[in-house]
Amino acid sequence: MKQLDQAAALVPEHAAVVERLRHADRMVHVTIPLKQGDATTYFSGYRVQWNNQRGPYKGGIRFHPQVDLDEVQALAFWMTMKCAVLSLPYGGGKGGVSVDPKALTQEEREEVMRGFVRRMVEVVGPEKDVPAPDVNTNSRLMDVFAEEYSQLVGKASPAVVTGKSLDKGGSAGRAEATARGAFAVWKAYSDLLPLDHVWRVVVQGFGNAGLHIAHLFHEAGHHVIAVSDSRGGVLNPEGLDIPALEQFKAKEGTVVGFPGTTTLTQEELLTTECDVLAPAALENQLTGEVAKRVKAKLVLELANGPTTPEGDEALHAQGITIAPDILANAGGVTVSYFEWYQNMHAEKWSEEEVYQKMNEKMAESAAAVRERAKRFGCTDRVAAFVLAVERIAEKG
Ligand code: NAD
Repeated sequence: MKQLDQAAALVPEHAAVVERLRHADRMVHVTIPLKQGDATTYFSGYRVQWNNQRGPYKGGIRFHPQVDLDEVQALAFWMTMKCAVLSLPYGGGKGGVSVDPKALTQEEREEVMRGFVRRMVEVVGPEKDVPAPDVNTNSRLMDVFAEEYSQLVGKASPAVVTGKSLDKGGSAGRAEATARGAFAVWKAYSDLLPLDHVWRVVVQGFGNAGLHIAHLFHEAGHHVIAVSDSRGGVLNPEGLDIPALEQFKAKEGTVVGFPGTTTLTQEELLTTECDVLAPAALENQLTGEVAKRVKAKLVLELANGPTTPEGDEALHAQGITIAPDILANAGGVTVSYFEWYQNMHAEKWSEEEVYQKMNEKMAESAAAVRERAKRFGCTDRVAAFVLAVERIAEKG
């Protein structure tokens, strides 16, 4: 809300839109029963529908023991802004179940998802609210969601959810979408350093987002000098061989120990001198303390919320530019939209077509954010909020 306040001050003509954005349209709290032998356990499930001025609510469903209504609200608000920044015909929502998925079998996880759908059937739908995967949920669980919903409403409705597997109506290109989107956004920052210069890149996290962004920079001839996973980081100032590192991690379970590297702590990794720092792991990594010591030209936020408000200030004070999460990691939701569109129109696009359309959208939004940052003399994060407010206002 603080971020929204800063943006609101720059566009006073949109005060009414901003006022509505301060409140969720609807919050649903359900109880999901799970039969385990003779006993039944009950889990809390949530769906927050923040705003639908641009179109159906859109946002993932996470399974995590710490899920609560506060967290889901914050994420639903962010989804509203993210979809608007990308000009998607979507509002924002988010869902979650307060459950430890590791304590359940695969069948039990699927049963919890079916229970979630049964309780939420009235509030979701292809033109109402379209969920997607998030922390600890995957394409298999999205297939289960679509199947259960279709049974309940009595007709095949794959467009009720995105992130499905390819043979159940998923889209080509979804796995790499977030990293490819971030890579397209990075290209809008060529004023910091020409794109044909060899950029030195540091990536925190070597999962879906981090692995693919490391590959993209590597393939384009840049030097990915450090990466980390939950066990620690590795550094080679000459640039890491990313395909070999991927193989090493597949075998050893971690990047730590990769030949020809020195080992780094997370903090050392985040403060390594580089041109692009790409946090792609967890939230709240760049705190005020850590951010003071960051030595990068650009922070490309693939993770959601990797920079704290104090971290933001510290980076800004040093003249470090941030490509904010609601822009930089929006490739995933953009391809989710393409999946929904293909389902609604019975189309099937090639991977090439998906990437081309996504790159265009990302480039347009990145340019629009940067233009506002210049015009208003604000950070790119505040500019992204300004753009989101403008694009929500367009739809009344
Ligand atoms: P993932 O689970 O595939 O990968 C996470 C990576 O972070 C793993 O390599 C893990 O080892 C590492 N990690 C965990 N704890 C760490 C720590 N303490 N320090 C350093 N590394 C640590 O997750 P993902 O899908 O790649 O998502 C990463 C971030 O990107 C999240 O914030 C997520 O919300 C965001 N994001 C992902 C997508 C997507 O499409 N995957 C889309 C938008 C945003």
